[in-house]
Amino acid sequence: RIKKQIMDAEGVRRALTRIAHEIVERNKGTEGLVLLGIRTRGVPLAERIARKISIIEGTMPPVGYVDITLYRDDLTYFEEKPPAAQTKVNVPITDSKVILVDDVLFTGRTIRAAMDAVIDWGRPQCIQLAVLVDRGHRELPIRADYVGKNVPTSHRENIAVVLEEVDNEPDQALITE
Ligand code: 5GP
Ligand code: MG
Repeated sequence: RIKKQIMDAEGVRRALTRIAHEIVERNKGTEGLVLLGIRTRGVPLAERIARKISIIEGTMPPVGYVDITLYRDDLTYFEEKPPAAQTKVNVPITDSKVILVDDVLFTGRTIRAAMDAVIDWGRPQCIQLAVLVDRGHRELPIRADYVGKNVPTSHRENIAVVLEEVDNEPDQALITE
């Protein structure tokens, strides 16, 4: 059940534009930046932010992805250690500034797993986190460096993120129950 729209297409566009500006400001340009989207909806968000950064700075940072589905530490389908998350990035990440990008930040477990995968892959200079929506309820000491919108939710509520590339519908974010 849809309770409330929290961002329309313009809202999403403006939030990503602001985040792109914040990333280049905090990192003093684009040197060494690598954007890694968390599959599924983090990937188009990372691509959009990279395009916006290229418009601002004239250089497009490389974009890769992290596939985290089998890596969360609260999954119980595996008796032993689940297979490592697949990270794919077409540039080395050692000494780079990795920006993880996801649609929604909740308990923090996905990001913890993504950081494990990144660190298994190489040794970045730093890892930062950008999310479109922070819905609260962290269970780990993780926070986002760049937030589109903070949306305090109850445990029963969810955030629906609609993105054109994935859903073939205009962008929006909704609170659902
Ligand atoms: P966490 O691992 O922080 O508990 O959850 C974050 C991950 O689960 C993100 O990859 C996000 O896509 C997904 N997720 C968690 N809660 C929500 C939600 O309310 N809405 C959406 N769209 N995704 C969520
Ligand atoms: Mg996700």
